[in-house]
Amino acid sequence: MAEPTFRAPKGTRDILAPDSTRLRALVDEFARLAGHSGFGEVVSPIFEDLGVFKRLGESTDVVSKEMFDFCDKGDPPQRLALRPELTAGICRAYAEHRPVPPWKVWYEGPQFRYEQPQAGRYRQFTQVGVEVLGTDDPQADVDVIVLGARFFESLGLGRIELALNSLGSPGDSGSRRAYEQALVEYLAQNRSLLSTQSQVTVERNPLRVLDSKREQDAAVIAGAPVMVDFLDDESAAHFAAVRAGLDAVGVAYEISPRLVRGLDYYTRTTFEFAAPALAGAQNAVGGGGRYDGLVEDLGGPPTPGIGFALGVDRILLACDAEGVFAAPADGVDVFVVDVTGGTAALMVCDRLRRAGMAVDRSYGGRSMKAQMKVADRSGASFAVIIGDDELAAGVLTLRDMVDGSQYRVEAPRLVGELIRKRRR
Ligand code: AMP
Repeated sequence: MAEPTFRAPKGTRDILAPDSTRLRALVDEFARLAGHSGFGEVVSPIFEDLGVFKRLGESTDVVSKEMFDFCDKGDPPQRLALRPELTAGICRAYAEHRPVPPWKVWYEGPQFRYEQPQAGRYRQFTQVGVEVLGTDDPQADVDVIVLGARFFESLGLGRIELALNSLGSPGDSGSRRAYEQALVEYLAQNRSLLSTQSQVTVERNPLRVLDSKREQDAAVIAGAPVMVDFLDDESAAHFAAVRAGLDAVGVAYEISPRLVRGLDYYTRTTFEFAAPALAGAQNAVGGGGRYDGLVEDLGGPPTPGIGFALGVDRILLACDAEGVFAAPADGVDVFVVDVTGGTAALMVCDRLRRAGMAVDRSYGGRSMKAQMKVADRSGASFAVIIGDDELAAGVLTLRDMVDGSQYRVEAPRLVGELIRKRRR
């Protein structure tokens, strides 16, 4: 085959059937579970004012290195960016529309990050997720985490691990400040052992150092003070209630005191789902947490929030690794073969489709033999054959593609006959 003139941009892929059918089925399953938990779908813009995403934290990789940002053609031009995640956009929507809290929403769609592409890491990837805005009840945290865990179970995934942490609260009486002080002191003492990148990060945002995946930083991170030892009474009680809720419904988790997640907005509960069947650096299949200051940061009223985003592309890789969630059968029930010019096929297809059947045909006036071959390949259980004899007699030949038997049916009886046969 000749080299194509254009290819999909680096880090993006065309997802063709049956993979696309499987992706759709996964999103549908998520929609079903989220709907059953009282979440409504929100469809948000794929691009937003760059300022919305800057709230994710200027020192995070997502904002400082991975943003697809651009100027529009306005006068003056507006700085926009393709969304790298959806939480910030949803908080912007909350501040704009002020829905009645608690606002429970779910979403699905593409996100964009300028990352180094590799298996399970793309520049355009799909996420599904939920957010609950307007309550700081720890049972909302539990409900959200349980929804994620039950979703993985419903796909048939048996080996998903849940890591849980609390980052405390950053307010005046907050536990975060005392912790950050202890962390800065510790990192200053061990500065020379850190990678050059992390030495810069210490200055800008010490908590981010804990997020470094660089080998050189691993030993320093392993010895760093942990947030859970610094929680104030309120945050500690909140964390205990989240754990108790998860225990009550029997969702297993590990406390992971160094889990800080990649974005700056998190407060209190943070969590991550990992699929150990996937390669180390790409084994996170989703994560989330509480972001009690984000709506206010975006100009809205003080509003607590909790949510998660799951990486659909990686979840499907995890399903492959565990041999679960096969692509649903795709294709048609009936294939119409017409050697009389095609108009009869047009009419039969339309009738059968309006009766709710999945029907296909071929084009280009090909021979009976060629059309029967396509019918075979289509996987259809029945073929409807229209030749000159059939047309003249006002009948159609109905062929069972499994056992090869066939007989003639009067044209007006075709729909009823197919319904009767498909029931058997
Ligand atoms: P994050 O909020 O960055 O933790 O993203 C949530 C989930 O989205 C991750 O756990 C991954 O499963 C998925 N994800 C994030 N970035 C990418 C990417 N570049 N390619 C594919 N999936 C991704």
